[in-house]
Amino acid sequence: PVAETPKPAAPAPAPAPAACVFCKIVAGTAPSRKVYEDKYVLAFWDIRPRAKVHLLVIPKQHVASLKELDELPVETRAALLSACVKVARDQGILDEGFRVISNAGKDASQSVFHLHFHVVGGEKLREDAI
Ligand code: 5GP
Repeated sequence: PVAETPKPAAPAPAPAPAACVFCKIVAGTAPSRKVYEDKYVLAFWDIRPRAKVHLLVIPKQHVASLKELDELPVETRAALLSACVKVARDQGILDEGFRVISNAGKDASQSVFHLHFHVVGGEKLREDAI
């Protein structure tokens, strides 16, 4: 029988930039108002809330933006969206409605380059804002 060629190991996740503020929040070296945490994700209040409820849901593993989503394990990708719904439910904004936004890159004015989803609600949101 022909010996099987060993599969190359999966590439190691890109190292987190030491200066990344959301990595510091994950590591506990920067403060945050956490609302949810599991093995894959963390959710906390935005430091400058722009709605009555304004949370951020992030993967614990550093990737810069939604553009790099496929670098995350599938479990993390699933956990991110589930956590958006869970924190909305926990904040009591599920029934009245809420919005989930991820700004990726320059045209979207992304300002923190660690993937995050804004979960906003708790009040009537602007219809013309996307
Ligand atoms: P972006 O513009 O990248 O979509 O959103 C980044 C968000 O992160 C902004 O809404 C900003 O207020 C928030 N933010 C920036 N630095 C911190 C921080 O150190 N702690 C928390 N909790 N939020 C932050």
